[in-house]
Amino acid sequence: MTPLSNVSLLTNISRPTSGSRTQRGTYFIQTWGCQMNEEDSEQMALYLQELGFVPSQNPREAHVVLLNTCSVRKKPEDKAFSFLGELKLLKDSRPDMVVGVCGCMAQVRADEIKQRAPHVDFIVGTAQISSIPGLVEEALQGKRFAKRLELPERKGAIVTQIPQRNVERKGKLKAFVPIQYGCDKFCTFCIVPTTRGRERSRPTEHIVEEVRRLAELGTKEVTLLGQTVNSYGKNLAEGRVPFSKLLKILSGIPGIERIRYTSPYPRDFKSDLVEVIRDVPQVMEHCHMPLQGGHDTLLKRMKRLYTVESYAEIVRELRAAVPWIGLTTDVIVGFPGETEEEFEGTIAAMERFRFDGAFMFKYSPRPDTPAAEMEQVDSALASRRLDHLIDIQRKITLEINENLVGQSFEVMVEGPSHKDKSVWQGYSRCFRMVHFTPTDSITPGDLVSVVAKRGHPFGLSGELE
Ligand code: SF4
Repeated sequence: MTPLSNVSLLTNISRPTSGSRTQRGTYFIQTWGCQMNEEDSEQMALYLQELGFVPSQNPREAHVVLLNTCSVRKKPEDKAFSFLGELKLLKDSRPDMVVGVCGCMAQVRADEIKQRAPHVDFIVGTAQISSIPGLVEEALQGKRFAKRLELPERKGAIVTQIPQRNVERKGKLKAFVPIQYGCDKFCTFCIVPTTRGRERSRPTEHIVEEVRRLAELGTKEVTLLGQTVNSYGKNLAEGRVPFSKLLKILSGIPGIERIRYTSPYPRDFKSDLVEVIRDVPQVMEHCHMPLQGGHDTLLKRMKRLYTVESYAEIVRELRAAVPWIGLTTDVIVGFPGETEEEFEGTIAAMERFRFDGAFMFKYSPRPDTPAAEMEQVDSALASRRLDHLIDIQRKITLEINENLVGQSFEVMVEGPSHKDKSVWQGYSRCFRMVHFTPTDSITPGDLVSVVAKRGHPFGLSGELE
């Protein structure tokens, strides 16, 4: 259950408005899932602000409540249904409250949502965010139940329909910029090609325009988003634009000091990208490249289209080009049919690659994916394996961070730490969280040099140089 009183403030969108319009009421957006969803929620917030709504921290009093859902695992889906159940009670007492369900779960489970939560006013798929203002207006006028689920473009089509996007009026130090939507890879465990449709890239000029606008508003760091971000640039009307070329173009925009991206797909990782990471100072020396499994038969069942050795070759090339590069990854434990030997392979791969950090997950069957039909691993066994792998990785991360004591890191200052306001924090170029004691002259957005004094499992603590 997700009691409304416990709704995470970290994931609800509440940004200041321009204040130029008449206030029509308040909104609350609850977000689950990845950075792409967070970014989509920001777009939703901007649309609602343009309609004249202002943010509220409290769904109990908001006039418009949007749920931006995630389908990658079962847990966030359960939370969304639980939240909808609680909203039913509110809607009974305030029938004029507008409730919309958006995101990946909306895309694939619209009929079930309508059946289980008839109090929902509209359901919006991942490619239809720009229809939200019209749907809110219709709901306010009493029109009940609408859904917009169209996913654009078949595979390989030239991109002509691209989502309309707003840029927040007030500058932020860091911003996400989607450059590619959907995915053509169809890994057997993954629901994304169904929830977000086939792979399509945004035209380069639109991305450049957005990043330039963000820079004018004060953004210094952009993170480019795509499911397989390094396959960017196919099927554009302007012709093919390799991801490495896009990075070079964006690095020339005045004011943009740091460029990150997530997540590259290993098979599409080519030498031109390694060269850009090595040669272009605005492109950060960090790469989050999902491994998912450490044994070839496991990777084959996942349909990951690379082998442990071909992955190792990319790691070798990256570390040869930039020895201090930060490498992080995603790993699934308990994938259907995972044998002891395959799991040992994953452990061996983690010990061989010595990632700086890893997100490790227990496999969660997703409806209508091939892996959901395969023979499942006993849940308790999968949990034990996951705990074991987390232990191993935690030790590796700690060892790496402790070995960095004495080295200097360029850190972009973000501000006071959430836990201890007397200590400030920021990220190094290689994506380590660094804590340090500030001086009066330091402000968020500054690039400072910090010498590491202590390594810990989640980063470094140090002193300004
Ligand atoms: S590459 Fe695989 S895991 Fe990643 S989004 Fe595409 S189908 Fe899903």
